[in-house]
Formats: sequence, structure tokens, C-alpha cells
Amino acid sequence: MVDLMSQYQKIKPAIDSAILNVIENAQFINGPEVSGFQSELEAYLGVKHVIPCANGTDALQIALMALGLKPGDEVITPSFTYIATTEVMALLGLRPIFVEVDKDTFCIDPATIEAAITSKTKAIVPVHLYGQAANMDAIMEIAKKHCLFVVEDNAQAIGSDYYHTNGKVSKTGSIGDIGCTSFFPSKNLGCYGDGGAICTNDDQLAAAMRMIANHGQSKRYYHDVVGCNSRLDSIQAAVLRIKLRELDNYIAARRKVADHYDAFFAQFSQIKTPVRGKESKHVFHQYTLTLEGVDRDKLNEFLATKDVPSMIYYPVPAHRQKMFEAFGSENTVLPVTDWLTKRVVSLPIHTEMEQEQLDYICAAVAEYIKNN
Ligand SMILES: *Cc1c(COP(=O)(O)O)cnc(C)c1O
Repeated sequence: MVDLMSQYQKIKPAIDSAILNVIENAQFINGPEVSGFQSELEAYLGVKHVIPCANGTDALQIALMALGLKPGDEVITPSFTYIATTEVMALLGLRPIFVEVDKDTFCIDPATIEAAITSKTKAIVPVHLYGQAANMDAIMEIAKKHCLFVVEDNAQAIGSDYYHTNGKVSKTGSIGDIGCTSFFPSKNLGCYGDGGAICTNDDQLAAAMRMIANHGQSKRYYHDVVGCNSRLDSIQAAVLRIKLRELDNYIAARRKVADHYDAFFAQFSQIKTPVRGKESKHVFHQYTLTLEGVDRDKLNEFLATKDVPSMIYYPVPAHRQKMFEAFGSENTVLPVTDWLTKRVVSLPIHTEMEQEQLDYICAAVAEYIKNN
């Protein structure tokens, strides 16, 4: 689905010397690479505070820990997402309340949020799925009206611009109270191992999250709150500093691949190509088709016989996961989510795709559609 090897070859000298530099200086934890990356990411996202951490799941967990929520408090979130978004809620004793997504953008449907609000609701966690932003203006308005926190799961959309209705432009992840992202290798800004970051414009939340990520420590060996140990290591930070400079080029390369797929698949009435909402710039972490009147699973199998990778993100929505049985979540009625789960398929998309590869993938999909 991705080609990290070819991408590395293009930046190899810079990466190799940056990694070697960390080793030679033996500054494996924190140090100048981490603080350098932190301020560069703050500048890129236009936020006051970035707190690097160990991975995207930790970022979400630390964000929720900093909000001072109580066990049993409810958090509204889409079911159509990666499990990490909602898993951390259960881990902290919070109750995930699953709502619908918009069938065009795959992101949380603001119209379903308000109906799910109760006296226990404390936060909304929208997910910018596949690289496209949720409708943040609508979400922020609901949050303001009901005094709720908003934590953006920006793991798939780093670098995306959000166009507010008032004309302002913000980077995704910088709009809610807190934004969380992941630097898992295959993400749009990926490192060479695990990594993540949290961002906020709120000084108090930033201080709380820094403390939580560092064993709840206020000064050395004095621990004020229960925290965890979540750090971005220096080698990963060194890699990320180099790749952050390339991020906008990487996004442009992904969008070019998406343009090509869009143009090619337009001829097939059975294929719905990704809808690009006017609220944001799609950064195409995934290129996801919605199929109608075609057996999605059989297409998947057929592509495998042609050595074309394809993936289902995600075959089981969160509310139907066994993990959430105790919450009775499977009784939640989410027809759009269930419908999408059976019809979406993601094709390879990455920064190093060649025309020949694209043509081969398109031809393989076309062959199946024409014969079925
Ligand atoms: C990747 C991802 C995460 C988790 O990130 P990790 O770094 O793998 O822990 C969370 N949410 C979404 C939507 C993701 O895609």
C-alpha cells in the first residue's frame, strides 16, 4: 500500500547523517532533535504548543487524561474509525458514545452529535478520516453551545488545511482544544518506528499534558498526578525533522495520484470515488472507493491475484467490536457506518507511485468491474 523504501532512497544522505549524529552524541532521549522538531511542528501547524510523545494512541490517551474527566463520563465519537480512537476512552473508564459518519466524507456527521448529548457528555472526538477534515465549524459550534471539549484525531490528516466559513484557514489538529497525531511509518508524516504528538493553544492543557506524559512529574521525583511514560525518541525526531520539510511535497504527490484515480474511475457507475468536501484540503492518507453493485470482497480477492494490494479500512466498526460488548455498543443503530463497512476499499497511494504502477492498478480494477 506504501513504498517507504523508495521514499527513503530520495532523502537517504540527510536521514543517514541525522541518525548518525544522534548516535554519536548519545542523546537518545529528549535533547536538541526533539526540541527542534517540537518547535518546527509548532510553526508548521500554527499552534502554541506541541508535545511529542511515543505514538498516536498515547497522544489520544494523554489528551483525554488532561481533561479531568470522571469515570462514566461520555465522549462522542464516530464508530467508523481505527480502534485507537475509542480504545483509550474505555481504558480510562470513559464511555464512548458512537455516532454516524457522513457517507460522502467518511467523517463524523455533526447532525448526529447533538442527539447523542446527555448530562454526562464531556467531549467530542472527531476523526479526520483518510486525510480529510471533519466539519469542524459545525462541531465547534455544538461544543461551545454545550460546553464540551473537542479533541481532534488528526492521525490521518496531518498537513490538511481547514477552510472555516469565516474565511480563516487552519491546519487540522489546531482547531479543537487538543489535536492528536501519529508518526507511524505509513502515516503521511511517518518516522522509522513509533511516534506521536499532541498539540494545543491552551497553556494550562499543554502544561498538564507535558506533566502526564512524564510520569505526572512537576519537578524531578515529585509526582503530582498519575501519568505515564510517553516520549518521542531522538532518532525518530531527527527523521521527522527531515520529513516535515518534505510534507507538503508528499501531500502534493498523494493528491496527484488521487487525481489520476478519480479521472480513471469516473467511467464506472459502480465506483464512487472519494468526495472532496469543500471544508478542507484532502491529503489522501488513504484513497478509498465506495462500491455499489459490485462484490467488494471478491474485488479484493481478485486484486490479490494480480498482486495489487488493497485494504478494507475498517472491516468492523468500533461499536461492533467485542471490546465494547460491556457497553452494549452493538445496539447503537448506525446504518451509514454499517453500510460503508461493507462497501469501502482502499487502493495503494503513496509519495513514490509511478505512472506504470497506477496504470496497472487501474487496469486490474477495470478488468474486475467489466467482468462482474
Ligand atoms: C494510526 C492511528 C491512530 C494511532 O496511532 P499509533 O501511532 O499507531 O498509536 C489513531 N487514530 C487513527 C485514526 C489512526 O489512523
